[in-house]
Amino acid sequence: MENLFEKGMINLAHAAVTEGVNGPGRRFTVWAQGCPRHCGGCFNPDLIPFVEKTLVSPLALAARALSSEIDGITLSGGEPFDQAGVLSEFIRAVKTARPAMTAIAFTGYEIEELQKNGGEAPKLLDALDLLIDGPYEEKKPCRDNLRGSKNQRIIPLTPEGEALALKISSSGTPEVEISISKEGDVIISGFPSPELAFALRKKLSPGG
Ligand code: SF4
Repeated sequence: MENLFEKGMINLAHAAVTEGVNGPGRRFTVWAQGCPRHCGGCFNPDLIPFVEKTLVSPLALAARALSSEIDGITLSGGEPFDQAGVLSEFIRAVKTARPAMTAIAFTGYEIEELQKNGGEAPKLLDALDLLIDGPYEEKKPCRDNLRGSKNQRIIPLTPEGEALALKISSSGTPEVEISISKEGDVIISGFPSPELAFALRKKLSPGG
């Protein structure tokens, strides 16, 4: 779970402000590039390869988040915990500037693995308010409370995370959201069925 790219830099697939599908309120959502899990039916297969995308420093990404009208930040992927050190610095920088900001992360690891494995994962856990853990299991579909499959858990890590979990549990089924990043990337988030995700990707790809 170490960063394979330039030391001190986040390997960013995309970043955009989303509303609802990545946690309560308006959230600056960061998609990390690279994931070791290879879950069947992954909604973001383009984010699995450990290839260099946009390298950005934690402070530069925090400045970008802070220039947006947001209620919090969310880490998604790809796998945020494979870039745990730099992403924890990013969250700390945002929270230092705006202490009321909350931080959520989706991870394909289970929290017990993250706590046991050491490395930089505990630093990122310490910076978060809420974790949605576990790999996507295609055979256990689930479309409530930001979980893609029933094995995944919503785990509050702070009192603010408890409040977020309450909001999530009363918010019903999330929809699909299509965002466009500053770089012009089209990002599909939420929990589309595999068929809908495929059709959307096809339609939105150049020449689709
Ligand atoms: S953990 Fe998430 S990003 Fe990684 S392969 Fe599984 S579904 Fe895809």
